[in-house]
Amino acid sequence: MKSTKFGIRYVISLSLVMLFACSLAVMLNSRSIKYSAVSTEASSETNAEFTVIIDAGHGGEDGGAVGVDGSFEKDLNLDIAFLLRDMLESNGIKTVLTRDEDILLYDRNVDYHGRKKVLDLAARLKIGKETKNSVFVSIHMNSFPQQQYSGLQVWYSPNDSRSAEIAENVRKNVVSLLQKQNTRKIKPASSNIFLLNRLESPAILIECGFLSNPRECSLLNTKEYRRQLAFSIFTSISEFILETDVDF
Ligand SMILES: [Zn+2]
Repeated sequence: MKSTKFGIRYVISLSLVMLFACSLAVMLNSRSIKYSAVSTEASSETNAEFTVIIDAGHGGEDGGAVGVDGSFEKDLNLDIAFLLRDMLESNGIKTVLTRDEDILLYDRNVDYHGRKKVLDLAARLKIGKETKNSVFVSIHMNSFPQQQYSGLQVWYSPNDSRSAEIAENVRKNVVSLLQKQNTRKIKPASSNIFLLNRLESPAILIECGFLSNPRECSLLNTKEYRRQLAFSIFTSISEFILETDVDF
């Protein structure tokens, strides 16, 4: 009985999600047509096509946090980045990935010894600064010495007020679609989050979950859960585009 009820609930919520995705796709298509028509009259600075920069944290010799099952944060970050890219691109939204393979971003022709991480962050910042009319979305995983902590957490750049709007969209959608018990609030980034502190365009960093929590780690290691996370982020960015004029 319990499983039947669960099955019905699952089908209903899945249908709602699909219905929402369809209507969102229709709205976004008409929005992107409207935007391209408007953008021909904009200045060269704002003329740039609206772009979502997807930043998969870590890579290569920097694995990031390590899960209780031995999984690496860098791989989960990259997979969510790919899923998010596909959802955005198939709805006509341009994307740029800071990395699309298992590497750190540093020039192999310079003396990088002891500076790989610094050079990597500088390269990501450069992409963020050079991509006009953009939103920067950094994907990470959390970890803590005590295993009981869990739940997604969103940080936002204090340099542009629209960052907090997007961060709040992500928090709200993740709570409503995936984590009803999550009471974490969005937080402004301090200087210890290098990219958010230095980017002047809208920017957020999503800690998708705790790899130190056995239950959340095993969820994060399923493709379906990563797809649901990517869908929540996609929905949040889409809402931001629909609610604003993306005329930065
Ligand atoms: Zn990280």
